Amino acid sequence: MKAPAFDFVKAQSIHEVLELMKLHGDDAQLIAGGQTLLATLNMRLSEPQLLIDITQLTELKGISQQGTVLRIGALVTHTEIENSELIQQYAPLLSVAAPHIAHRAIRNLGTWGGSIAYGDPAAEWPACSLALDAIMIVQGPKGERRIPAAEFFVDLYTTALNDDELLIATEIPLAPQGQVFSFQELARRHGDYAVAGLAAVAQRNGNSLNDPRLVFFSVANIPVLAKQTQALINQKPLSSEVLVQAVKMVRSEIETSADITNSAETKTHLVGVLFERAIKQMSA
Ligand SMILES: Cc1cc2nc3c(=O)[nH]c(=O)nc-3n(C[C@H](O)[C@H](O)[C@H](O)COP(=O)(O)OP(=O)(O)OC[C@H]3O[C@@H](n4cnc5c(N)ncnc54)[C@H](O)[C@@H]3O)c2cc1C
Repeated sequence: MKAPAFDFVKAQSIHEVLELMKLHGDDAQLIAGGQTLLATLNMRLSEPQLLIDITQLTELKGISQQGTVLRIGALVTHTEIENSELIQQYAPLLSVAAPHIAHRAIRNLGTWGGSIAYGDPAAEWPACSLALDAIMIVQGPKGERRIPAAEFFVDLYTTALNDDELLIATEIPLAPQGQVFSFQELARRHGDYAVAGLAAVAQRNGNSLNDPRLVFFSVANIPVLAKQTQALINQKPLSSEVLVQAVKMVRSEIETSADITNSAETKTHLVGVLFERAIKQMSA
């Protein structure tokens, strides 16, 4: 199918974007890399009358270290993240997660901000941002808002972004010394969306993990933190008994839902499998 007819504006400033959004309301939609939006237009899942191209906005570009945080502009592409030395040094979880996103051509165009704003439950960046305790910086007519990742993903394809706001950047605390991480994803073929995934970080202390953050994705409507299981394993020597108990707990804690090809039971099983793999990797 072909996309319906629409008007197109290449915005030159955030101010212009906000004015256009105010003027056109629901009839306007932002376009960044277009790697999700163009498919939804072609399938006529959405029919905006105006596309506002934000790719010229320099404020939304680049990766930089700013004091104790790493700032990732909304327009930073998946490939830029994959290749960034700053990311490798200060948020290495993202470096290992990036190659799991689609294929090179899509990673060259698709953006961090597009993925975060779209809020696909099977996408890698929402889960990683929650694991890394990121802050989303959004701009709207009333100014800037800073929204923790834990409050940003609200429901299936629904985020805390208001219709008249855009995502500008994300701030991620710099990985502390001794941080260990694991990114686990099960997909039918490399580059496919995940059947189930886990983005995990912790502080390693001998055979224990301190302050683990375990985020499962593609198992429910939004990425989910395994809070009870985190508390169970926190600072505890990871004996095989503790691991067995934790696998049981994580499977009962994470409420999975089916997708079009996999049942909730399959996802619950995979939650335990990915958890065990991640814990073994981080504590080895
Ligand atoms: C075949 C295929 C396979 C894919 N596989 C994966 C995968 O495995 N994992 C994965 O995570 N993704 C996957 N994707 C999606 C890809 O990562 C997209 O690039 C990403 O989801 C959206 O980024 P984008 O820049 O292309 O956004 P766009 O398509 O331009 O926009 C997506 C949505 O976000 C909104 N938006 C964009 N930028 C902003 C902003 N700054 N502020 C507010 N709203 C904004 C748009 O209005 C639109 O609603 C796949 C895509 C394709 C086509």
